[in-house]
Amino acid sequence: MVQFLGTLRPSPSLSSFATYKRQVYSPITAPRNGFLSFRRMFKAYIQSSSAATDAGLGLPSEQSEVIFIGTGTSEGIPRVSCLTNPLKTCEVCLKAVEPGNKNRRLNTSIVVRHPTSSGSSNILIDAGKFFYHSALRWFPAYGIRTLDAVIITHSHADAIGGLDDLRDWTNNVQSSIPIYVPERDFEVMKKTHYYLVDTSVVQPGAAVSELQFNIIHEDPFSVSDLKFTPLPVWHGHGYRSFGYRFGNVCYISDVSEIPEETYPLLRDCELLIMDALRPDRSSATHFALPRALEEVRKIRPKRTLFTGMMHLMDHEKVNDYLMKLKETEGLDAQLSYDGLRVPTAL
Ligand SMILES: [Zn+2]
Ligand SMILES: [Zn+2]
Repeated sequence: MVQFLGTLRPSPSLSSFATYKRQVYSPITAPRNGFLSFRRMFKAYIQSSSAATDAGLGLPSEQSEVIFIGTGTSEGIPRVSCLTNPLKTCEVCLKAVEPGNKNRRLNTSIVVRHPTSSGSSNILIDAGKFFYHSALRWFPAYGIRTLDAVIITHSHADAIGGLDDLRDWTNNVQSSIPIYVPERDFEVMKKTHYYLVDTSVVQPGAAVSELQFNIIHEDPFSVSDLKFTPLPVWHGHGYRSFGYRFGNVCYISDVSEIPEETYPLLRDCELLIMDALRPDRSSATHFALPRALEEVRKIRPKRTLFTGMMHLMDHEKVNDYLMKLKETEGLDAQLSYDGLRVPTAL
């Protein structure tokens, strides 16, 4: 069940959340014509992007796609500390400085672009600390103008630290953004982003992100005619994060353990996007590559793209290793990278 907070159709059962009810003056209107001209405007820019070229351009407008706008761990890659290290020992971070290098990674996040009867819908999963920088890099390049919804996996800073930056959209593009957030993470946001949850504390005349909060539980919910099924996973001992399934795509960005009851939700997965922090040993809160590969063998998706990599994961070297697994085991698994677009049938 989804609890809708601050929508135009408040439910009497939600009276306890009345404080957080937000006035929405008009429905979100996506400037569809603007979007088309926007695409044309940035065509030259797109063509100069190696990631865009790799990922394949000219997707038909009715084609759904997943766009990786961040594939890195919390502090980002390159690490500042590696660049200031006089010994210059971190090859990956030194490579990541080069423009267009696939080791350059910002906080893990995707945009699901999904055709609707009135155009195309952009659904963002997570807005972390570096959301502004990811959006700056990829939204103009890929013609992403509106944000039709934001879905939250959990409330760590690399998943919600960019909520404040959504003000640029709600001030200048659209009246508000629906945000779908698990109840426990909404409780965190009441503290970390109290002024976005209760805008009565905002100084008159000051503009903050206009978010319509929708509380989600473990039941499927629908966004822009697309069904999202929460995939509850452990992200450290006793700390729960949500992955999401939409169509036959399963997205699990922050996981240290998959509970037995979640595996049935992963059946017949065509594209698995899975946490793989480092090449060797798992941390308390994240899978490392060996554990992530064990899970891939168990879940048996058609294709896997890993995400959430730290600076120990060299894009080329790890992908070379994974290519060998394709030859030996038939596993289709690779690292994703910032800017990767993957067409999907949703
Ligand atoms: Zn480094
Ligand atoms: Zn986290």
